[in-house]
Amino acid sequence: MNQVSERLAVLSPSETLAMSQKSSELKAQGIDVINLSVGEPDFFTPEHIKLAAKQAVDNNYSFYSPVAGYLSLRKAIVSKLKKENGLEYSPDQIVCSSGAKQSVCNVILSIAGPGDEIIVPAPYWVSYVEMVKLAGATNIIVRADIKQDFKITASQLEAAITDKTKALILCSPSNPTGSVYTKAELGALAGVLAKYPDIIIISDEIYEHINYAGKHESIAQFESVRDRTVIVNGVSKAYAMTGWRLGWIASPEWIAEACVKLQGQYTSGPGSISQKAAEAAYTGRQDCVAAMRSTFERRRDLIIDLASEIPDINVSKPDGAFYIFPDFSSYIGKTFNGKPVLHSADLAIYLLEEAHVASVGGLAFGAPSCVRFSYAASDENIIEAMSRVKKALAALK
Ligand code: PMP
Ligand code: GLU
Repeated sequence: MNQVSERLAVLSPSETLAMSQKSSELKAQGIDVINLSVGEPDFFTPEHIKLAAKQAVDNNYSFYSPVAGYLSLRKAIVSKLKKENGLEYSPDQIVCSSGAKQSVCNVILSIAGPGDEIIVPAPYWVSYVEMVKLAGATNIIVRADIKQDFKITASQLEAAITDKTKALILCSPSNPTGSVYTKAELGALAGVLAKYPDIIIISDEIYEHINYAGKHESIAQFESVRDRTVIVNGVSKAYAMTGWRLGWIASPEWIAEACVKLQGQYTSGPGSISQKAAEAAYTGRQDCVAAMRSTFERRRDLIIDLASEIPDINVSKPDGAFYIFPDFSSYIGKTFNGKPVLHSADLAIYLLEEAHVASVGGLAFGAPSCVRFSYAASDENIIEAMSRVKKALAALK
């Protein structure tokens, strides 16, 4: 029998990747689909980074690298953390992987197993809960709706902690909501965690540079949690390098060692050329990052203005990332041609089939009445997509 393992059977496929795939399939059939589903910058990788990769090919960076990544790259990341975040790390505390996705998964698999609980604030990025399942650990979901700007409070965190709590996963700026925790809000969470010295904080900061609220704040800055926070970051979003697959952690040494052990048996060090490209990203000029951020900010304002014109949706203006996450509660339960829209996943399918706009239903993010739209797209596509969505919603009865 073709029977996959129990471990795989409980796993859901990635909804973000699935919706993007569906959109590509419809496009291949000649349908004019606007893809606002997958979250990736629509810019090309900056020239100086591509040049460094070409040089790495010519200089024969074709051999296995150390499992944690080249020392030169890890030193570049240490300098970045010092310069941009005011945080001191040694290269031994940095582990590079094939994308931040692998970095998060390495950490979860390294620290958690059956009997352990991991607190995951919802809305969450789709992959966290699946990685926790893969580890055999238990997701403890803490919900924050649009009224609280999708951010959990210190008292909600405290109420979720038990003697089985192993870790908290924080994502700021957030995918899917775009919300950004302020320094004071992070400080309040760190204040609670100060009372629980065994809880590890996984702080996913992949959208660090796509932040319109000002300076990026990391929970790692707080002394009470500093030595048990794992920062996850990478080059995918800041430098438009999603396909290069290069992410990293900055973590306590014991977790870094565990991730190296795991990765050493699983994938080895990440691609050598991507590592050299990432090194150029961190050591080279940074004006490309600011230019992309300001384009995203302009598009955020555009999509928010257009979304605000759609009747009966509730949309907040996010401070970061490149997503909006409107609440469509008043449309759930309506019908189209007698077919009911039961939750946001149905709504996303409806919008894809009827409006030819690809989005991702909030169900997969733990928010069944919301839908995520990525505005990493041209102004023209954003304008056309929102007009189609408005029209399609008006056709629901
Ligand atoms: N964390 C979050 C919150 C993300 O949105 C993504 C995007 N895929 C990742 C991690 C993984 O990024 P990477 O492309 O580096 O694997
Ligand atoms: N993080 C992006 C998203 O949420 C890329 C797809 C993925 O890796 O899930 O759309």
